[in-house]
Amino acid sequence: MIKRIGVLTSGGDAPGMNAAIRAVVRAGIDFGLEVYAIYNGYLGMYEGDIERMYRKSVSDKLRLGGTFLGTARLPEFDQEEVRLKAIENLKHFDIDGIVCIGGDGTYHGAMALAEMGVPTVGIPGTIDNDIRGTDYTIGFDTALNTAVECVDKLRDTSTSHHRCSIIEVMGRNCGDLALWTAIAVGAEYVITAETGYKPDELIDSICKAAKTKTHAIIIVAEKLVDINELAKKVTDETPFEARTSVLGHIQRGGKPSARDRVIASEMGYKAVEALVNGEIGTCVCIKNDKIITTPIKEALEGVNDLEEKYRVFRIINK
Ligand code: ATP
Repeated sequence: MIKRIGVLTSGGDAPGMNAAIRAVVRAGIDFGLEVYAIYNGYLGMYEGDIERMYRKSVSDKLRLGGTFLGTARLPEFDQEEVRLKAIENLKHFDIDGIVCIGGDGTYHGAMALAEMGVPTVGIPGTIDNDIRGTDYTIGFDTALNTAVECVDKLRDTSTSHHRCSIIEVMGRNCGDLALWTAIAVGAEYVITAETGYKPDELIDSICKAAKTKTHAIIIVAEKLVDINELAKKVTDETPFEARTSVLGHIQRGGKPSARDRVIASEMGYKAVEALVNGEIGTCVCIKNDKIITTPIKEALEGVNDLEEKYRVFRIINK
């Protein structure tokens, strides 16, 4: 039976991580456990930056963006000797279970620890929504709403100047944030890793928009195309002058939406329950509105199927 658990946030921060940490701390205490903060992700585990937490330690954190535990990237954590030193630090504090909140990289770290005998349970905290085993990752809703608010503002100016706005949103290889934003703002075109990009089709749709509209919007998932080159192409080949904007890290910030707070709280509780039940190397997922746990390895498998949403986008934004 475990007695002491640690909680960490790792990789990119996401709004709602604090709500998840708070839930882990309070659920852990309710289960009769001691709960420890591990600061700055796996780096804090490696450096022994660990501290006992109490109910009060997480007061007033629920509504804050970012992660008050801090986060870091420690690429060396894929080396066994680095993990062995981190595990030594856990032993020093008698910590016998860890909740790892983060994205797919964080999950690989958690899986590697589990293979070395450390009970770990993951919570999906990333604005990218790129963990296939779960329908939802904490932070996505807040980031989506931030992106939509920014694009709406850009639309005001692009309409006034009769321009085409090309806007890069985050999401790396997972196009959810881009496609959902494109649907929510009524964009003319969207480019994601899953949907691809056909230059002629894009120019056609912008030219078509120019016949009836005073603006056009193209949403591009992070770094998929050179948006400055694309702006030149749109300016040269359509009636619109194009301007670019990169929303960048602003999408990660801000206070978490109610949805992110609620799901993070439920997931935090579930993660502690899983550790108490003796699970090792699992993660919390939402499937068809139910909160479950599944092996991390399985949660990382699969491809992102955006086809149905993309079909709807194309029909209603023709
Ligand atoms: P996001 O996608 O939101 O940025 P993430 O969790 O995917 O979040 P990463 O930087 O990829 O962010 O991973 C976080 C940390 O997890 C890394 O800095 C590293 O310490 C650890 N990690 C990543 N991959 C591995 C691996 N293969 N083995 C062990 N640890 C890993």
